[in-house]
Amino acid sequence: MIELDARLRAVRDHAREAAEDLRARALSIDAEPHAMEQHLDSPAFAMIRESALPEEYRSASPAPAPALAGGDDPAGRGSCLESMVSVLELFRGDVGALLACPSPALAGVFVALLGDEEQKKRFYERVRTGRTWAFFAMTEPGRGSDATAMETRLERDGQGGWLLHGTKRYIGNGARGGIGVVFARTGPSPLHIRAALVELPASGWQAEPLDMVGLRGAALSEIRLDGVPVPGGMLLGEHLPATRRGIWGAVQTFNNMRMQVAAAAVGTAQAMAEYIARHRPGTPGTRRAVARAEAARSLVYEAAARIDRNPDRGYLSSAAKLGATRMAVETAHWAAAALGPAGLLDHPLLEKWTRDVCAFEFMDGTGNIQRLHVARGYQSGDADGR
Ligand SMILES: Cc1cc2nc3c(=O)[nH]c(=O)nc-3n(C[C@H](O)[C@H](O)[C@H](O)COP(=O)(O)OP(=O)(O)OC[C@H]3O[C@@H](n4cnc5c(N)ncnc54)[C@H](O)[C@@H]3O)c2cc1C
Repeated sequence: MIELDARLRAVRDHAREAAEDLRARALSIDAEPHAMEQHLDSPAFAMIRESALPEEYRSASPAPAPALAGGDDPAGRGSCLESMVSVLELFRGDVGALLACPSPALAGVFVALLGDEEQKKRFYERVRTGRTWAFFAMTEPGRGSDATAMETRLERDGQGGWLLHGTKRYIGNGARGGIGVVFARTGPSPLHIRAALVELPASGWQAEPLDMVGLRGAALSEIRLDGVPVPGGMLLGEHLPATRRGIWGAVQTFNNMRMQVAAAAVGTAQAMAEYIARHRPGTPGTRRAVARAEAARSLVYEAAARIDRNPDRGYLSSAAKLGATRMAVETAHWAAAALGPAGLLDHPLLEKWTRDVCAFEFMDGTGNIQRLHVARGYQSGDADGR
């Protein structure tokens, strides 16, 4: 079991303060996820944004603990374990409020990996303002788990640039966004899948928010791309070998971010178990629910520490996400039952969390896809190593 040293405990305590701020905003953001103006200058949002920026784009000094970066974080913001200790506390505050924060998020990990200096500058100069959301547009209607089957096209415009055509769906911050990454194909093979840096406003771009039940702060959207212009210099990874441009970068990004989803599930489960302990003391199963969340947190810390030792062991994040997601959904069922019939009406925060937990299954790969990763990890003999 991982024992937190004094520095990691300080990281955790710092995040706890920001988590309270997120918690205080949770219901308001859930009710009106597109009325964000009142939240933009919040201390928690500033901390989350700063922690996800590379050093040269930060305004805060010294740098805050990493909240939204993994162990092999290309922007060099610390270890995966440190990131998990911080982000798990923030998620315990509220996952939906955290996802509503304008920050580099998933797109930032990808741009840090595949962007050249000019592209990074364009991206980070926009998101560092705290007024610009970033999007990462990969999924399409009917094209989710198998991203290599995507249909969105990049067509040459005859003047050295490209035009984007297609539809993306379930894209976080799609309708709020100002800059981000859009995946599309230039030809038939998986190596033809490329990512373009798209800055808004842009002609041919139409984004609409989707009606969501849970995690409404994530503001999932559908984006229609009708000849969106992409200047020649805005394809990411042009300076890299062909095998390291599109899908490779996406896989690295998902490996990096999957632990975040595991932490989101654990943080929400802990919040629910603590909520029941406070509002319905003596409820049967409370100690078990708290212990399961604690055990899942230990698994996340353990997986993070192992990833710090060997960043290529992506299957560990899959194991952590799989276990944590299932545990969070079961905790939500238990918590709802503990309040009794109509109890959720009197406890809107808990009611919100019981909706939110259903989304974790789909983020950064569904449960079946994680099972495939874990199976491959065992088959390769990786699973027994330290
Ligand atoms: C809160 C939230 C935020 C999201 N944010 C983004 C975002 O910012 N950008 C983005 O691009 N996407 C985003 N997504 C979309 C997400 O990545 C997809 O939902 C996910 O990839 C699954 O795709 P799908 O929904 O099309 O399901 P499908 O891929 O159609 O899967 C449906 C079912 O089939 C199973 N299945 C699929 N393939 C296999 C297989 N080979 N073997 C066994 N079973 C299989 C799945 O496990 C699942 O049970 C987000 C989703 C959510 C819920």
